[in-house]
Amino acid sequence: MDIQFEPEEQRFRELAREWLSSNVPGTPRPLDGRDMLSFDVSWQQRQHEAGWAGISWPEEYGGRGLTTLQQLIWYEEYARADAPFIGANFVGVNHAGPTLIALGSSAQREEHLEQILRGAAIWCQGFSEPGAGSDLASLRTRGEVDGEHLVVSGQKIWTSFAHMAQYQELLVRTGPSDSRHKGLTWVICDMHAPGVEIRPIREMSGEQHFCEVFYDKVRLPLSSVVGEINAGWQVAMATLAFERGTAFLADQVGLARQVDSLIAFAQETTDHAGRPLIGDDEVRRALAMLRAEVTALRSMAYAVVSQAARSGMPGAEGSLVKLYVSQLSQTLHKLTVKLMGSQSLLFGYGATGPVCEYLRSYAASIAGGTSAIQREIIADRMLVLPRSR
Ligand SMILES: Cc1cc2nc3c(=O)[nH]c(=O)nc-3n(C[C@H](O)[C@H](O)[C@H](O)COP(=O)(O)OP(=O)(O)OC[C@H]3O[C@@H](n4cnc5c(N)ncnc54)[C@H](O)[C@@H]3O)c2cc1C
Repeated sequence: MDIQFEPEEQRFRELAREWLSSNVPGTPRPLDGRDMLSFDVSWQQRQHEAGWAGISWPEEYGGRGLTTLQQLIWYEEYARADAPFIGANFVGVNHAGPTLIALGSSAQREEHLEQILRGAAIWCQGFSEPGAGSDLASLRTRGEVDGEHLVVSGQKIWTSFAHMAQYQELLVRTGPSDSRHKGLTWVICDMHAPGVEIRPIREMSGEQHFCEVFYDKVRLPLSSVVGEINAGWQVAMATLAFERGTAFLADQVGLARQVDSLIAFAQETTDHAGRPLIGDDEVRRALAMLRAEVTALRSMAYAVVSQAARSGMPGAEGSLVKLYVSQLSQTLHKLTVKLMGSQSLLFGYGATGPVCEYLRSYAASIAGGTSAIQREIIADRMLVLPRSR
């Protein structure tokens, strides 16, 4: 595959590469707690001050107003420079902000967008509930209109970064209990409002990044509703399209780099009999397959970008990228742990390193909609196959 860029895009790439080469933080990103938060916030601030945050966001809200392809070029250079994971800013930058740009009121855009880009406000996503994950339309957290407020009571779960966030994209039921998609409302929740209680959950990797959130008669102004009351499903679908379609584009270069490192490791390392690992047919085949798959992933990422550039919004193709990224990442990390053997344990539990990456790769096939749900979307919306249920 040979992708050609316009001279202006090449120049943009060079500038991005130059800036990243002298600005990527020299210290590793802390994996947990307040240190992680302050690292994420100050790195976001630095990008914003230098004009590298919100490449494709409108200029009036602090963005650069450039094309989605330039946004992708930035992601590619970002990954190539080994710049840190976006972390606590993921929801705000990758899907809350884009949702407000697409469907928020001008007052909501004014209030929130620049704050997100500056790293001044962390956002989280309150969609999943103990009885409503894949079947999001069955959620039960209630929102009752009372004068100028929406009064929210119920519970969310798996809310990433809720314990650090100022705002939440919250989906509640405002219609009758059996109203499914037609009775939902998408509202901006102030995480410090009276009645919000947050309980962090510890993960198998040892980290603590997501939470249960409880709402006890939380009063949110109606001006915080995005779209209309009972029309939150359309807003939520836009949020998920941004989450799946654009948020995973950066992963393609990161995975390609990791495949190259693993190939180098297999060339440099010998087995117990002193033979290079790369000499084994099975290892060679697995590595060749991985390299072919990261190349295919890059083509998919470009297809998503060109679709989004035409329609203004990522479509069902985003589900292809998300599904592919999570499968590829699991295969890659499994092979890494296998080839490194006991060396992979030296990095320790809960730290960066192959075992942690391997464990984390399973979360990617659940977060933002499971792989089974991505397959349903691809079958339904892209292949137009009959529904399975
Ligand atoms: C790291 C991480 C971060 C997360 N962050 C957030 C967050 O910030 N905010 C938030 O709201 N949520 C978050 N989630 C939750 C995530 O969106 C849900 O876990 C996910 O949607 C699946 O829902 P569930 O856990 O209830 O599983 P279930 O929906 O109960 O699914 C259980 C199993 O059944 C399968 N299944 C269900 N329905 C179907 C079907 N129709 N066809 C075929 N198979 C099916 C699923 O694929 C899965 O294997 C996060 C999850 C993870 C892992």
